[in-house]
Amino acid sequence: MLISRGNSKLGKLPSFSLPVITTCPGKTAFCNLFCYGFKGMFILPSVKDVNERRLDASLKSDFVPIIIKEIQKTRAPAFRLHVIGDFYMPEYIEKWNQIATELTEVAFFGSTRSWRCDYLIKPLEEFRDLPNVYMKASIDATDFLDPFSCGWRVWSIEGKGVPCPHDSKMVEDCLACGRCWTHKDTDTSFRLRWGHQVTYLALAFKERGGINKAMGRSILSLHKRRKEVNIGTSLHNGKAYLRL
Ligand code: SF4
Repeated sequence: MLISRGNSKLGKLPSFSLPVITTCPGKTAFCNLFCYGFKGMFILPSVKDVNERRLDASLKSDFVPIIIKEIQKTRAPAFRLHVIGDFYMPEYIEKWNQIATELTEVAFFGSTRSWRCDYLIKPLEEFRDLPNVYMKASIDATDFLDPFSCGWRVWSIEGKGVPCPHDSKMVEDCLACGRCWTHKDTDTSFRLRWGHQVTYLALAFKERGGINKAMGRSILSLHKRRKEVNIGTSLHNGKAYLRL
């Protein structure tokens, strides 16, 4: 079996994952530091082995019929791509395009940072625009590329979008919620769960070379409450400047 049969966040919804970082050509500075693929169960050798096996399978010519059969067996209304890992090459995206085109009764949802890669954007947008695909652009504050001008809606980390209700325990799981696999036109914001907000904002500043006023205020207020990072701050011309 290549697919996973649910988890505590997805409920009974199945998913497919790949090895972390090595299959993420669109990774950002945020990913290198905070990706949850470096934590918890994802670092178990057995889990890493399964994801390597999935990568090998995804390169083979029989990947599409095998996955179609596995998803059909679950009878689930929706399927998550990817819990960890990402779309790593055009041929791989084309395979998911074939799978979603065949399984029109299943909603394929998730997010990707591969939208940041020029060589992946065309097949990704073709996949995203299928009627039963609900794929969003992953964004975080360490990156300044803009997915909105290309028609993407987003999953952000502590940024643009309506907060995910699972983060505040308002829904049991994605199966019960359904927002991300029934609406194409929504932006969703997720809490930073692995790591400290101050570190995240400081990293954002380092990568972008400047941040807006709202983010500067956040840093100031966070800095008052938490001491993990020693930041000197001054506001000037609507931008906050940090000395790390
Ligand atoms: S908004 Fe709903 S469907 Fe989307 S990730 Fe959160 S719980 Fe899951």
